[in-house]
Amino acid sequence: MKILVTNDDGIHAPGIQALATALRTIGDVVVVAPDRERSAVGHALTLHHPLRAQQVGPELFAVDGTTTDCVNLGIHNLLSFTPDIVVSGINRGANLGDDVTYSGTVAAAMEATLMGIPAFAVSLVAQGLGSHYDSAAVFAVKLARQIHQKGLPDDTFLNVNVPDLPPDRLLSSCITSQGRRRYEGSIVDNLDPRGQKYYWIGSTELSFLDLEGTDFYAVSRGHVSITPLHLDLTNYTSIQVLRSWELE
Ligand code: MN
Repeated sequence: MKILVTNDDGIHAPGIQALATALRTIGDVVVVAPDRERSAVGHALTLHHPLRAQQVGPELFAVDGTTTDCVNLGIHNLLSFTPDIVVSGINRGANLGDDVTYSGTVAAAMEATLMGIPAFAVSLVAQGLGSHYDSAAVFAVKLARQIHQKGLPDDTFLNVNVPDLPPDRLLSSCITSQGRRRYEGSIVDNLDPRGQKYYWIGSTELSFLDLEGTDFYAVSRGHVSITPLHLDLTNYTSIQVLRSWELE
């Protein structure tokens, strides 16, 4: 199996190293990842300046761009093969529910899907640095094998979230739907040392509606969550409603 690995925490993050090491047991792995953390940049593509890729080790490339850049550059230029699968992660922190569109880790899997390559994103549901990247890495190996054998449904990629627990405490995996975030108090405002006001976006705690069948529901109970996603964001149920509007 030929595998492209990327992430949005940067090439030096513990998660990508655990993932690449684990996947090397089942295939040829090339890592193409941002040279620094590029979290929460979503599906951004760099268009306004040239990109540089530096080979920093055997089968290891650092790019001064986003995860979407990395997947593009990897597949079109840096790799000597077309990968059978793209695996993105292991992200430090969850990518659940409404948050998936912010995630550079998820966007990498999205980009691979657009290029016709099976892909999944894997994140560790950790507050702070995270401890059990090994649990997520072991699960990623199982899933990569399964995808390689069975393929994925058309236009589908997987968003995987693994609780930060030791392997023996991790519960079975569940196929889930995207949950709903609860938006509350996530912007800090304060004065900087020069007396100017600043705002800092970010909530440290996971705040989601506890809806059965969702990704959040599964991981908060110790299960691995696998959510099948696709790129078509159309809300089909509202098409008829909107067609009844009188806009002419
Ligand atoms: Mn990240």
